[in-house]
Amino acid sequence: MNQPKTVRTRFAPSPSGFLHVGGARTALFNYLYAKAKKGKFILRVEDTDQERSSPESEKIILESLKWLGIHADEGPDEGGDFAPYRQSERLGRYKKYTETLLSENKAYPCFCSSEDLEASQEKSKKLGLPHIYDGRCRGLSKEEVEKRIAAGEKYAVRFRAESREIVVNDHVQGRVKFDSRLIGDFIIVKSDGFPSYNYAVVIDDHEMQISHVIRGVGHLSNTPRQILIHEALDFPLPEYAHISEIVGTDKKKLSKRKGATSILFFRDVGYMRDSFVNYMALLGWYPEDGVEYMPNRRLEEKFDIDRCSKSPAMFDFFLTDKGGGEDASIAELSYEELVKMVNHKTKLNWLNNKYIREMPLDDVWNEVRPFLEKDESLSGLVKKDPDKMKSTFDTLRIYLNTLSEAAPFIREILREDVDLDAAAKSQFDDPLAVSVIETFLELAENAKPADPENFTAVIKETGAKTGAKGKSLFMTIRVASTGTNQGLEIPILFAILGYEKVLNRIQSIRKKAGI
Ligand code: GLU
Repeated sequence: MNQPKTVRTRFAPSPSGFLHVGGARTALFNYLYAKAKKGKFILRVEDTDQERSSPESEKIILESLKWLGIHADEGPDEGGDFAPYRQSERLGRYKKYTETLLSENKAYPCFCSSEDLEASQEKSKKLGLPHIYDGRCRGLSKEEVEKRIAAGEKYAVRFRAESREIVVNDHVQGRVKFDSRLIGDFIIVKSDGFPSYNYAVVIDDHEMQISHVIRGVGHLSNTPRQILIHEALDFPLPEYAHISEIVGTDKKKLSKRKGATSILFFRDVGYMRDSFVNYMALLGWYPEDGVEYMPNRRLEEKFDIDRCSKSPAMFDFFLTDKGGGEDASIAELSYEELVKMVNHKTKLNWLNNKYIREMPLDDVWNEVRPFLEKDESLSGLVKKDPDKMKSTFDTLRIYLNTLSEAAPFIREILREDVDLDAAAKSQFDDPLAVSVIETFLELAENAKPADPENFTAVIKETGAKTGAKGKSLFMTIRVASTGTNQGLEIPILFAILGYEKVLNRIQSIRKKAGI
């Protein structure tokens, strides 16, 4: 294989929506591979589908990449030797190659109307066969072609796919063979003069000297068409790596509704950039040394496309339907819904917690600060005494799955006194309430619990001693200590407050409730 010396990878998004997990992982693998090989990472915007592309989508994609720290060496904003990096600005470049292919009879004008094609497509569908162009315009004489063009008939340009075997030697999928007879002659330039995806991609990859094409396995079936074009134009082939599909916990492909949500969503719910990137890198790749926690650019040293797995990678983040919707904004989710999502014991949460607790405080503080500034009751304090806020955050960060959990915990810590919610008060009508509270106080006095596990043990023992279960046990303790019937995870909150503060709070609420 004719391999250029420098590794040059590219991410080539079509700006027709937001950047979702699959796209972001493709961008990341290209970026990491280029970094690992001291090469260059190129960003190319594939906006030739005029109807579906939009500048807003391009903006969101660029913002998402920026958040992820995936910086392009060359791209629409960065410029570079092979500019422009937006396909709609490169239209003139495709023409000369089309002329070559037409003059060498490797492609031909096709006058079939979309109605003709749809009818033939329908026919194949009915027979349960893949749609293959029937070659109607393949044998038109030169004279006829010229006559029809002169008469102003619209035409597309079709690639002549001679029958042969095409082999894709893929870094991830291995050797995959295709039969060109099952592909048929395919369109490279549409009747509106725009290049097809398969055509533009080949010319741009060649002109931009891309050495490695790393993309989702969904594109594997496009690769034989692209190889045919490369060869017809005498372009050396790039290396290919088609990375595995990403599935949800239900083992089904991530759909838009179930987790293929915008990358910015993960920023907004409080995942740290580095942990999210670390997590995404593990979707289909596994480091040789088995060490999954890779802060401080260690990923960039270790990543290798040859250690990627063919089997689907599982993205085990839990999303409610509401959270996964295309337009879902984090602002629409209630606190409980948010907690439900981020409190799941997922690998992403495990990793995020590890980053929050182990990264230098200043780095984590920079990322958590906007979450505290957004909080009405904390924003003033953050401005007035950032150091105090920072050290308060430092005491509780070990417990956090996400940065968005910091604000409610800090609010609790800073509360001087606790009010008793009218709605929550009725919990004390439970016949076991008083005995639960007294037993808990007594056991906590003796055990002096300090961490969430100790507190959980004391709560369990309270249940065993009093016979209280479920709501009778847990809700009573929650209301007795916080004055409300909803909110944070109690054992974590107790560990953060410290048992003395918890006991004082309980005494104060008992007084207010008159029990
Ligand atoms: N523009 C294509 C897409 O967004 C990617 C093309 C490629 O990587 O070859 O799916």
